[in-house]
Amino acid sequence: KEPLLQASELSRYFGTEVAVNNVSFTIHKGEVLGFLGPNGAGKSTTMRMLSGNLAPDNGQIIINGVDLLDHPKQAKAHIGYLPETPPLYKELTVAEFLQFCARLNAIDKQHQKAAIDSAIERCGLTNVSNRLIGNLSKGFQQRVGIAQAIIHSPAVVILDEPTSGLDPIQIREIRQLIRDIANEHSVILSTHILPEVQMLCDRVQIISHGQLMFNDSIDALSQKM
Ligand code: ADP
Ligand code: ADP
Repeated sequence: KEPLLQASELSRYFGTEVAVNNVSFTIHKGEVLGFLGPNGAGKSTTMRMLSGNLAPDNGQIIINGVDLLDHPKQAKAHIGYLPETPPLYKELTVAEFLQFCARLNAIDKQHQKAAIDSAIERCGLTNVSNRLIGNLSKGFQQRVGIAQAIIHSPAVVILDEPTSGLDPIQIREIRQLIRDIANEHSVILSTHILPEVQMLCDRVQIISHGQLMFNDSIDALSQKM
């Protein structure tokens, strides 16, 4: 079966330093793929390339049959992306911000309200939709970040360190939200937290010094430990 996303021989340099070194992998429909590695391993650089926000120096990314580098607009419609530090507009309300995101994602005018309402509901934001983002807790701000990543119903949702900087209760809530998201989207989850991968993912890839070291099921990973 055709993979939903296929990354082939991705490399990215910063100056002479290689941040991502010849990385290839696929993700299939319904999968939750963990991208595990320590700080500086190359996770964010890979996520930025997959989301179309950073050009690779080498390699190819095919999403739903569309080449991301050749047809970025078309390919990006299939991808949702939560950066490690999402650019939230703190002076907008949740609903205003998501309205802005709906427009950015070129959702048809007549479908925007339904898309916004659905994202608000799915991310547990109903009671805060008219509050300013800047006045929300970090946990709720992260829900807004996830809402903007799913608003256009992408096939693949890329989450970069989605629980970083949250307290234990917020972490539990965001992990539950990720489980809910995974029922309707394929997910790529970047994290340095092994238990997070064990809790949420079907398969894990370990990245170290820019290179993939391991690519197998969570069960296979657990047997190695
Ligand atoms: P991770 O997300 O796993 O922590 P990153 O992808 O952020 O790793 O970083 C991989 C390597 O690339 C690190 O050595 C980092 O310092 C470097 N790097 C990342 N982004 C840049 C950048 N914009 N300019 C220079 N170096 C960068
Ligand atoms: P990450 O999100 O990859 O873990 P940061 O939060 O430190 O890393 O990165 C925030 C921004 O700084 C990103 O745009 C990243 O590319 C850039 N960056 C990261 N490391 C470096 C570096 N060594 N030199 C310059 N820019 C960097």
